Parts: sequence; C-alpha cells; structure tokens
Amino acid sequence: MSDCIFCGIVDSSIPSTTVYEDDECLAFEDLNPQAPVHVLVIPKRHVIALSDVQESDRNLLGQVMLACSRVAQQKGLPEHGYRVVTNIGKEAGQTVFHLHFHVLGGRRLTWPPG
Ligand code: AMP
Ligand code: ZN
Repeated sequence: MSDCIFCGIVDSSIPSTTVYEDDECLAFEDLNPQAPVHVLVIPKRHVIALSDVQESDRNLLGQVMLACSRVAQQKGLPEHGYRVVTNIGKEAGQTVFHLHFHVLGGRRLTWPPG
C-alpha cells in the first residue's frame, strides 16, 4: 500500500470531494482552502513534482492542464480571473509529493505570492 495521500484519494482509500475526473486526471476540493474556490488537479499516476516529468509525460501534462481549465470553467472562474499554481520542493511549499496544480479563485489574488 502506498503512503502517498493523493494516491490514496485516487484509489478511494482516503475520502475527497471529486470536482472532475477523466481517464488520467482527478480534481478534488482542497481540505484547507485558501480561497473560496480551491481545487487540486492531479494526474492519477504517481508523479512526484513538475521537476520529475519526462518527455513521455507530454500528453499527460497536456491533459492535466486541460483539466485545470475545465475545473475553472465549471466553477465559473474565468470571468473574474483565477490562478493555477504548482509548488515544487520544500522551499516552495510543497507538502504532498504527488504532482498537483492548485486552481484558486473567487477572491482577489495578490502578487507576488509569499
Ligand atoms: P502543497 O503544499 O502545494 O504540496 O499542497 C498540498 C495541498 O494538499 C494543501 O493545500 C493541502 O491543504 C491539501 N491536502 C492535504 N491533504 C489533503 C486531503 N486529504 N484532501 C484534500 N486536500 C488535501
Ligand atoms: Zn501519489
């Protein structure tokens, strides 16, 4: 059994609220939302971070990006703007080492991020 939380969400051994799903991707509500809309979009396959992807992951990455766009659309975010962000490594704030894209919106987002 994997000790990865997000692999646990993919295999349903850890509960989550699904927002979107296709053959390669899963999107679910973040447990500790940082904005009115905060969804995590992940590849179902375990990939550690964006720094670990290979040329062979090209199609998977495209599908994950499309999933982010679909989730934003589904949540009504494009009208006012939203942010898609991925943290890579501890210093950037990555705490779960399974690639994920945060889709954040529903409030004014400041820049630069902390
Ligand atoms: P990061 O800090 O970029 O690695 O983001 C990890 C995100 O996963 C955080 O926003 C957490 O709130 C979220 N998270 C951790 N565990 C769960 C869980 N069981 N269900 C949903 N989101 C989670
Ligand atoms: Zn995983």
